[in-house]
Amino acid sequence: MQTRPPGATWSGNHRYRAAETLLPGDLDELAEVLTSADAVRVQATRHTFNDVGDTDGVLVSLEQLPVRIEIDGDRARVEGLVTFAELAPVLEAEGRALHNLGSLPHISVAGATATGTHGSGLRNGNLSSAVRAVDVMDADGQTHHIDQTHEWFAAAALGIGAFGVITAVELQTEPSYTVTQQAYTGVAWDDIVGDPERVFGGSRSVSVFTTWGDPAHDLVWAKSDDGAPDWVETLGGRPVGDDIHLGRIRTVDNTTPRGTPGPWHTRLPHFRADALPSDGDEIQSEYFVPMASARDALAAVRAIAPAFSAQLLVSELRTVAADELWLSPAYQRDVIAIHFTWRNDTDGVLAVLPHIEAALAPFDVRPHWGKAFTMPGEAVRASLARIDDFTAAAHRVDPRGVFRNDFLRRTLGL
Ligand SMILES: Cc1cc2nc3c(=O)[nH]c(=O)nc-3n(C[C@H](O)[C@H](O)[C@H](O)COP(=O)(O)OP(=O)(O)OC[C@H]3O[C@@H](n4cnc5c(N)ncnc54)[C@H](O)[C@@H]3O)c2cc1C
Repeated sequence: MQTRPPGATWSGNHRYRAAETLLPGDLDELAEVLTSADAVRVQATRHTFNDVGDTDGVLVSLEQLPVRIEIDGDRARVEGLVTFAELAPVLEAEGRALHNLGSLPHISVAGATATGTHGSGLRNGNLSSAVRAVDVMDADGQTHHIDQTHEWFAAAALGIGAFGVITAVELQTEPSYTVTQQAYTGVAWDDIVGDPERVFGGSRSVSVFTTWGDPAHDLVWAKSDDGAPDWVETLGGRPVGDDIHLGRIRTVDNTTPRGTPGPWHTRLPHFRADALPSDGDEIQSEYFVPMASARDALAAVRAIAPAFSAQLLVSELRTVAADELWLSPAYQRDVIAIHFTWRNDTDGVLAVLPHIEAALAPFDVRPHWGKAFTMPGEAVRASLARIDDFTAAAHRVDPRGVFRNDFLRRTLGL
């Protein structure tokens, strides 16, 4: 079996501890790995910012497994290591689309849905909410097909890898649609936080970029199905040209086209599939609080901005609609997502996160599983109404604890 060094996460902020990454060539070889190892995690496209995907045992990548994309009616089934950049054009060619995408298409379907990756939109659930079934190989090499009728579905569709190796994901699709996007400066902060439902509900997907102080850095980026999102101009917004700044990130020819209509997958991500997304030299954190608390939570963060602004490149505010997945930050509640892109300075970032987490603590805050956070496990678990159900299911499917790692033990108490 081929191997390679495990390397580091995409931005280099976490070096994997495992000695090597194994590259099985087919499902039989994958089963051999799982049955003989004491501890396994999957390494996908590595766009995480913590140790969620690491292990002291064996890392396995599906990159040598055959890839298959099948579209049947309103479902798409992907097998192997498939990214949204690979899946989206195939869907579009069949006249189909996903309901939403994250800010970049470079990430894997299995890794993104395992961690609750999201885009924006008052009526858009996260990408995991489009999962209709997963095939999971357990530590005995057995594959379970877990669909919506299965007792473990609400745990396994967003399972942070705790159920085993996801070898296939089935996603809900919808008819293809066209999106026009534009980014605007000049919308007053008070208008954004004064009526967040109006701003975030104005288009299919709305992001607000801010550095929590300098209005020159505030940007409303709206993506509409029905022509240019002109409604932002009624709030004083002025379209920006091509030279777009995301806070202190100066994007260099890596964003998707603004001002013209295009297929959904060419407009919903901020960043183009053929370019480096974001800054590259960064760490990310993100916290979710109920939409009903958006105004107070944003005020609480803004009040402590001087404590973290030296580390900040930019913040992005988005919304995620409620779902029924037990570990979802949006489980049974619409949320506002408060994101931070930091300078790539681990010690500096870890020093400021507790301030933000304390400010958001009164608002039933949950962290993004794939990004940096310091919330103690007790606080995380207290925010998860179905943690006991998740833990029970994970123990039944993985009694030897092969897929548990430090992150899951520390955060979820698995
Ligand atoms: C520039 C940039 C922009 C981003 N934008 C967004 C955004 O818009 N919205 C958002 O929510 N997040 C965003 N993220 C975060 C990112 O989408 C998530 O952290 C996501 O988990 C990355 O998926 P991955 O496959 O690259 O990660 P990996 O680190 O490879 O995997 C993530 C987790 O899933 C597990 N896993 C992966 N594949 C499998 C499998 N087949 N079976 C079982 N477990 C598996 C891994 O073990 C790990 O625990 C961004 C990240 C970057 C770097």
